[in-house]
Amino acid sequence: MSAPEQFDLIVIGAGPAGEKGAAQAAYFGKRVCLIERAPRPGGAAVNTGTIPSKTLRESALHFTGLRQRGLHAIDVRVRPDITISDFMRRERSVIETEWDIIAQNIERHGITTIQGAARFLDPHSVEVTRYGTEPRIVTAPHFLIATGSVPLAPSGYAVDGQVVVDSDSLLILQHIPSSMIVVGGGVLGCEFACMFAALGTRVTLVNARSRLISHLDHEASDALRQAMTARLDITVHGNSEIGELLVTDGRAHVTLTDGITLDADVVLVCTGRAGNASSLGLEMIGVEVDDRGFIRVDERFRTSVPHISAAGDAIGYPALASAAIEQARVAICHAFELQYKRRVSDILPYAVWTIPEVAVVGQTEESLAARGIPYETGRTSFRLNPRGQILGATEGFLKLVFHPEDQRLFGVTIVGEGACELIHVGMTVLAYGGTLDYFIQAAFTFPSLTDAYKYAAYDGLQRLQRRVAKLPGLPSIAREVVGD
Ligand SMILES: Cc1cc2nc3c(=O)[nH]c(=O)nc-3n(C[C@H](O)[C@H](O)[C@H](O)COP(=O)(O)OP(=O)(O)OC[C@H]3O[C@@H](n4cnc5c(N)ncnc54)[C@H](O)[C@@H]3O)c2cc1C
Repeated sequence: MSAPEQFDLIVIGAGPAGEKGAAQAAYFGKRVCLIERAPRPGGAAVNTGTIPSKTLRESALHFTGLRQRGLHAIDVRVRPDITISDFMRRERSVIETEWDIIAQNIERHGITTIQGAARFLDPHSVEVTRYGTEPRIVTAPHFLIATGSVPLAPSGYAVDGQVVVDSDSLLILQHIPSSMIVVGGGVLGCEFACMFAALGTRVTLVNARSRLISHLDHEASDALRQAMTARLDITVHGNSEIGELLVTDGRAHVTLTDGITLDADVVLVCTGRAGNASSLGLEMIGVEVDDRGFIRVDERFRTSVPHISAAGDAIGYPALASAAIEQARVAICHAFELQYKRRVSDILPYAVWTIPEVAVVGQTEESLAARGIPYETGRTSFRLNPRGQILGATEGFLKLVFHPEDQRLFGVTIVGEGACELIHVGMTVLAYGGTLDYFIQAAFTFPSLTDAYKYAAYDGLQRLQRRVAKLPGLPSIAREVVGD
């Protein structure tokens, strides 16, 4: 074995957190080694999760004509012999471009990369092993663990990768199943249910809770369920779980806890994720993990061994690529005492790529009510938006929640076409402590979906006027005349 190589920082895992954390340190002149087990960088975001699933969604909307159906009254169906890989051809080209972009970023920052699986030998050195090559040992005074997460194995039945699949094995199926049971009504379960229903698969979704994506604004969750059942023909079983699952003759036979029996070509299990740090030897060096294998960190993203930081899915919630990247940058700034980026913004937009899209930023009615904070809402439907009419994107709404006295924006929830982009307007106003007045005064392009913000704001002011009429003592600019 060759002599240990020394760096200022060793990063384990080249997903979004690892890549951007490594680049942040290199940007400030640190000698960085980035270790990745997989043959390609990008982690779940590029290789198995975010980008493949969102590309499949776009392809599903495009090839099935679903986006155009409302517009031209056409009804295009997918060819019965089409495979997932037909759809994935486009995904392949997007992923390959992403690999190139990451490789260029790593090269531009002068980061040393090693391919292989990392494991701590002691708190300052890591062994990297790869089949067919000599193990290498690297040492450093600082480490960033960014090894991501894996699908949580279900209890009571096994994922076989063919009939019972998880989000990793789903996208390598050789055919588009004619029927599918999706287990889990969280973000991934709902996203995949919508995509496959759009592709023509008969989808049944089994959800342990009564509401889909239960932390969403109640109106958004109800609107999503309505769209999924009415527009995509998805059957939703709420308050139910898998009681028994048998696979015979290549088909799944399921009995739910409420006694309902179901059959399907494929069962997709989306019941959560677990930390992916079990192979790192953390127990030997005293880095603590919780009962789901997520690494415990403090507000500076330091683990229980302070010179070892961790970021991204490896530490659990919120398990978003956007958060993973920012956490890693902040972790590096703290590790090297860089007065640059000291905390992750607490205004994190949340995007759900269902059909229709759902996006949230800031507070919801429920989160404010739970904290006893007074609020008012302003709401508009995309049916009333000229751009929505032109696009045939009339499904959904935009809702503002704000303080009833000073009209400071608390949060935005959007359901509908473009929600995951539109949410950033609300995010910016929130970040600058803006009020409804921003939307009232702004001149948005016409016709645009963004203009919906203005009409939601007018609705909010009108609701305030009605309140003022009932409660004459309430100070409010809502007494002013508002347009419509
Ligand atoms: C189906 C799906 C859809 C998603 N959609 C979205 C979305 O729309 N928007 C969004 O923001 N997020 C989405 N996510 C979540 C997003 O993919 C993750 O939050 C993000 O990838 C986390 O980045 P990370 O760098 O922490 O971990 P990962 O991307 O998981 O990267 C971890 C890397 O570490 C490597 N590794 C692990 N162990 C070792 C080891 N011992 N040695 C060396 N290397 C190792 C792995 O090979 C991997 O490359 C989705 C996830 C899934 C599964």
